[in-house]
Amino acid sequence: MNDIHRNTLVLDTHIDIRWPETPDWTEETRQLVDLPKMRAGGMNAAVFIAYVGQGRRDAAGHAAATARAEAMLLHIRDRARAPGTRFCATPDALEQCFAADETAVLSAVENGYAMGHDLSRIAAWRELGALYLTLTHDGHNEIADSARPRANLGDAPSEHGGLSALGRQVVAEMNLRGLMIDVSHVAKSGMMQAAELSRTPVVATHTACVALCPHPRGLDGEQLDMLRRVGGLAQITAVGAFLKSTPPNAAAQAGVADLVDHIDHAVRRIGIDHVGISSDFDGGGALHGWGNAAQSEAVTLELLKRGYGAREVGLLWSGNFLRVWRQVLRFGSL
Ligand SMILES: [Zn+2]
Repeated sequence: MNDIHRNTLVLDTHIDIRWPETPDWTEETRQLVDLPKMRAGGMNAAVFIAYVGQGRRDAAGHAAATARAEAMLLHIRDRARAPGTRFCATPDALEQCFAADETAVLSAVENGYAMGHDLSRIAAWRELGALYLTLTHDGHNEIADSARPRANLGDAPSEHGGLSALGRQVVAEMNLRGLMIDVSHVAKSGMMQAAELSRTPVVATHTACVALCPHPRGLDGEQLDMLRRVGGLAQITAVGAFLKSTPPNAAAQAGVADLVDHIDHAVRRIGIDHVGISSDFDGGGALHGWGNAAQSEAVTLELLKRGYGAREVGLLWSGNFLRVWRQVLRFGSL
């Protein structure tokens, strides 16, 4: 394995898990991420996601969403019972885990739908170890408009004009409790409002650049500039449809070079300190050359080929994310 890759804390900020029939992650599985694949690929840390798809916005829908998210958070924490792994809920714990040559398990919640109207869930999730909450998924929720409204759920193009009144309270509560604000999936209006309103930097944990591939899930130039202004991060992700749009079938052909094209674009526009990497493995991510966790070295090798050095590779894989996470925890705590 390449020395720089081996010596870098390789942190993937967005990985889905199969649910509820979850295979044993300590064995080789058909999932794109499991413990053997992480070890083989020098991926030291994974943020596993308690994901809840958008559903009916009534009391029963919200209760079911909350129950699912919390069961998934407990499951993710339990993954770190495996020998040679640790559950990490702070940057210090993550760095100690890396220094001990163990694999770090982290967790986050995707879709603020899972809290319904109950702000107390934010502290509860942080107590369970979650490090961020993605405000929306596909489809508007009670908090914010989504970048991809769901007509089949009755969504208008815009419902709240960005963040709702509850959404503004959610941002303030997340600041207070030390939960990072993930603006991936959020409509541009809501993303810009959350970035302005938040007292700590916001992060797009799995995204791409609209300038290179027009897709509603990507960030445009104004959004990238906003992330730089607030000290936040654009974590470029390995979803072909976000990376490559021409020629036809381009998305299916997207590879590591396309991922790094987006990283390059973001770095040129907003600087090395505001860009990172995620895979969205087992949630739609997979590229030629970076098809699973075992192939993670390929990303580092492509970055080195483009002229990035050890310091920059370290910032992109984890250094920037740790910086922002520390800022968030300095501001807020349980
Ligand atoms: Zn997502």
